[in-house]
Amino acid sequence: MAVADEVLVLGGGVIGLACAQALQERGVPVRLLERDRLGAATSHGNCGTLTPSHALPLAAPGMVATALRWMLSPGAPFYVKPRVDPALWAWLLRFARRCDAATFQAAIAPKAALLTTSQALLDDLVRRRGLDCGHARDGLTYVYRDASRLERSVRDHALLAGHGIAVERLDADALLAAEPALKPGVAGGLHFPGDGHLRPERYAAELGRIARSDGAVIEEGAEVVELAPTARGWRARLADGRAHEARRVLLATGPWAARMAARLGRRWPIQPGKGYSITYDRPALAPRRPLVLKDRSVCVTAWADGFRLGSTMEFAGYDDRLTRRRLDALERGAAEALREPVGPAKREEWFGWRPMTWDDLPLLGAVPGAPGLWVAAGHGMMGVSMSAATGRILTDLLTGVAPPIDPAPYRPARFG
Ligand SMILES: Cc1cc2nc3c(=O)[nH]c(=O)nc-3n(C[C@H](O)[C@H](O)[C@H](O)COP(=O)(O)OP(=O)(O)OC[C@H]3O[C@@H](n4cnc5c(N)ncnc54)[C@H](O)[C@@H]3O)c2cc1C
Repeated sequence: MAVADEVLVLGGGVIGLACAQALQERGVPVRLLERDRLGAATSHGNCGTLTPSHALPLAAPGMVATALRWMLSPGAPFYVKPRVDPALWAWLLRFARRCDAATFQAAIAPKAALLTTSQALLDDLVRRRGLDCGHARDGLTYVYRDASRLERSVRDHALLAGHGIAVERLDADALLAAEPALKPGVAGGLHFPGDGHLRPERYAAELGRIARSDGAVIEEGAEVVELAPTARGWRARLADGRAHEARRVLLATGPWAARMAARLGRRWPIQPGKGYSITYDRPALAPRRPLVLKDRSVCVTAWADGFRLGSTMEFAGYDDRLTRRRLDALERGAAEALREPVGPAKREEWFGWRPMTWDDLPLLGAVPGAPGLWVAAGHGMMGVSMSAATGRILTDLLTGVAPPIDPAPYRPARFG
């Protein structure tokens, strides 16, 4: 079999697609293999927010106590299914050990760098290539009904200013004037003018469209069942019996990346963090900008042609049931804060598995000890927001160019 000079990208979510698009645009030929349809997994029903605002690490002081409290409350946004799973408990332990002030503060910089760089690159891509994906860069607002939660959050988010991320505090009157869709009874809000949003399923489709128009070969319904090193590179065997061999392979299979890597002897700490969403037609009185209802951790995104509620973080392995209790909690959370919490017609109920690492950063770069194998996975709650910078960093590294930010914090070698 001839060894192709193309890069074989495995996985057609926003991360694989962003890498394929950036590589092909740089003139590096790409073949992308996606077992389902493009963007059909985690990249489909997420909230589509573009969020430098989320640069604060999840592992924050007090987080363990909050998580334990949530575990005892049935409708809470966080849940760990009690079961024997050594990899999950090791993951949770590593995460818990990071919940101190010093680690929290040190972990902001690499997250902020990836998010802000991605924001600028995505603006440029949308403009330059005319992506039709409902992209807007008009901010996002955190809404608080609990005044003490607001005060704590104001203190924590003040740290973002040092990383070039603007935060504006809104009192209750200013918040209600800015967002007439909110019910009275709010304590105030935090507004992040540099955030944005897009319709994620359309973004994935558009990345596929422009990558193909630049010459990328994209195969849907192409499941890779085995990846093995050869004398000259890597061989990906497909479920239909075909195989592709290439010098370089990029693993971008999101929440499934650790499973594939495990078969190659790697132990990457990527756990599926299950989240849910419900999509409706747009209500008459929709929020003007995306909102995060912080008291219930519900994210609300309205587009010209739709409306989505999304949230929850469930560590329950690859459990693929749509849990009614979690979906109901989304609507209850929205009803507490919004005058019109749901749209006139429900279009889709959905779940996805966020690819979560315990240090809240993705794995980007060459896999040590495996020449020709590369990875871009583990983007957790922010794969859409980090997609453009991920594509750029991988393209730079694969072509021997210095990336726009230091890639060291994301190197796969940190996990061995
Ligand atoms: C409820 C919810 C809300 C969210 N909201 C936001 C948000 O507002 N903003 C944001 O930035 N992020 C958000 N996220 C996170 C975001 O959705 C993810 O980080 C992102 O989609 C991950 O993209 P990915 O390409 O790595 O993974 P995926 O989209 O899961 O793509 C991986 C692909 O690999 C394919 N694949 C797997 N195995 C194989 C194989 N063997 N052969 C071939 N193909 C294979 C899969 O079919 C899949 O299409 C949210 C997530 C959830 C669950």
